[in-house]
Amino acid sequence: MNRVNILNASIDNLSKRELLELLNQYGGVVVTPNVDHLIRLQKDPDFYRVYQLSNYRVCDSKIVFLASMFLGSPIQEKISGSDFFPDFYTFNRNNKSIKIFLLGAAQGVAKKAQEKINAKVGREIIVGVYSPPFGFEDDEKECDKIIELINQSGATVVAIGLGAPKQEKWIFKSKEKLANINIFLAVGAAIDFEAGHKPRAPKWMSEVGLEWLYRLLYEPKRLWKRYLVDDIPFFWLILKQKLNLYKNPFWYIFEPKDDSPRKRISVFLP
Ligand code: UDP
Repeated sequence: MNRVNILNASIDNLSKRELLELLNQYGGVVVTPNVDHLIRLQKDPDFYRVYQLSNYRVCDSKIVFLASMFLGSPIQEKISGSDFFPDFYTFNRNNKSIKIFLLGAAQGVAKKAQEKINAKVGREIIVGVYSPPFGFEDDEKECDKIIELINQSGATVVAIGLGAPKQEKWIFKSKEKLANINIFLAVGAAIDFEAGHKPRAPKWMSEVGLEWLYRLLYEPKRLWKRYLVDDIPFFWLILKQKLNLYKNPFWYIFEPKDDSPRKRISVFLP
C-alpha cells in the first residue's frame, strides 16, 4: 500500500472506496490524522505507539492534504472521519454482518445518532450505544462496563467518538477483550454531527481548509487553544520537513514495515 510520510505519521494513500473494501475484507483499526493529531504525535509517545499499531491512517484534514502537496507527495483523497462514517454505514446498508456500536459523545447524543442512522439506513445497523461519563478512562469499573456492553450488543464494529488521543488509546487498551469486533473506527466528533447535536461546517469551508474556523466559531471556549496555540507549530514543522530538517522525536519506537494491510492486521488484531 502506498504511504505518504507527513512528520512522523505515515498516511495510507487510499481512496475512500478502497478503504471501504479493505475494511470489509480484512477489518482493522482506522485512525484519521489531522493537524491536531500530528502535533500530539510530536509530544505523546503513547499516542505515537498506538498510531503505529493502527491498520489504516487516512487523511482527515484539508490542511494535511495541502501539506502533502507542498511536500511533493500528494495524498489522493481527504477521508475525514466525519465523512467516512456515514459512507461506511451507507455502503454496508445491506451487509447484515455489519452491526455498529457507538461509543462517545455527551449523554443522550449517541442515542439520538442511533435513531437517526437506523431510520436512514432502514435497519438496526446501530445495535448499541454508550456515552461514558467524562474521566471514565481512569475508572476501571466503568471501563469493564463498556467492554461488557459492547460484547453483549452483538456488534461487529465500534465507532468511537471520544476525541484524540483518548479514542485511539481506548482502542488499543480494549481490543483484545472485544473478540467480536473486526472494525474499529476512531471518528472524533462524528457522533455529534450524526445526532445533529453540533452542526458540521458547510462543504465549501471543508474544501478550502477552513473547517477548523467554523468549529472554532461554534465552540470557541473549547477549541481556541487547540487551533490558535497548540496547532500553530505544525506549519513550522512542515517547513522543516520540506528542508529535510525534521526529526521524529520517537524514532526509537517500533514501526511495522510491512505495507500489506493483511499482514498488519494478522499481527496486530486478535
Ligand atoms: N468526548 C467524550 N468523552 C470524553 C471526551 C470527549 O465523549 O471523555 C466526546 C465529545 O463529546 C465530542 C467527541 O468526543 O463529541 C470528539 O470531540 P473532538 O471535537 O475533540 O473530536 P475531533 O473530531 O476534533 O477529533
